Amino acid sequence: MTLLKKARLLYTWAFTGNKTTAAIDITNNCNLKCTHCYWWKEERPPELDDTAMIKFMGSLRARGMTAAIIYGGEPMLRPGMCEAASRIFDHPLIFTNGTQGFSAINAQWILSLDGARVVHDSIRGSGAFEAAVGNLRKAPRKPVVHTTITSQNRYNLEELLDTLSGLPIKGVGFSFYTPSKIRTGEDISIPLEERGLILDELLRLRKKYWRIMGLTRTMADQFSRNSEFSKWNSIEKCPVSKVCNCYNADGTPKPCTYGAGADCSQCGCASIPLYRAAIRHLDPLALFMIYRMVN
Ligand code: SF4
Ligand code: SF4
Repeated sequence: MTLLKKARLLYTWAFTGNKTTAAIDITNNCNLKCTHCYWWKEERPPELDDTAMIKFMGSLRARGMTAAIIYGGEPMLRPGMCEAASRIFDHPLIFTNGTQGFSAINAQWILSLDGARVVHDSIRGSGAFEAAVGNLRKAPRKPVVHTTITSQNRYNLEELLDTLSGLPIKGVGFSFYTPSKIRTGEDISIPLEERGLILDELLRLRKKYWRIMGLTRTMADQFSRNSEFSKWNSIEKCPVSKVCNCYNADGTPKPCTYGAGADCSQCGCASIPLYRAAIRHLDPLALFMIYRMVN
């Protein structure tokens, strides 16, 4: 039954124009103030209360959205809404900073870690790494780790992989930081022409950390300016936009999970290389990663 549900999800992603996935900011609030994050620096409309949020998620499910990606802020500041999402959707993924723990619900947790202890704490605040990893060790099911590569952590990836290889996780996936066209300030994104060096290094490290490495050559090619990047790096061509609707915490739609100003020409979203490697190139490892990640 589970296998059938997963196969149906992949089929609709690949062969129908149906929007089967909702990306929902389930809360505006976060307990951290990460240096690389725009979230806590911007004003937002008030979030839906619990009753309205449950009704909203139910309406999305009734419209055929069987998969949901739950974001914040920090979703676990609303544990009841995480639990509701896990009941309403067939394939819930919940992104978390890990500091609030992992509850025993029917969802796949995606834990954001930016580096090994020193680098992670320099970005997310003192004690953030220990809190997240302490909770990770007690998690009722193995999380997937997600790391966004920026100028702040690009030289810490091997140390991170070494740390993660001793932890109970399913694997680790990588995004590149996606800058905004409307926000100004320090640019921590990796220039497109430098991505190849980092990807080559990760593929080299894959030989040692193959058990957890969520990157294949086909996926790396999607990020690369000299390969397939230009096939999807616009709002018109973005495969995520084709299968997924994104919503603010008040239920209003937004064009991209990174916000209205996301610069598609420098997109670093990990899900697109994974999707394209699996669906367009039938990369068996990418298919296996999706199989393990979705409920
Ligand atoms: S935990 Fe996530 S939402 Fe909160 S400040 Fe950090 S990056 Fe932003
Ligand atoms: S920035 Fe957003 S809309 Fe643009 S390509 Fe990336 S995921 Fe798609």
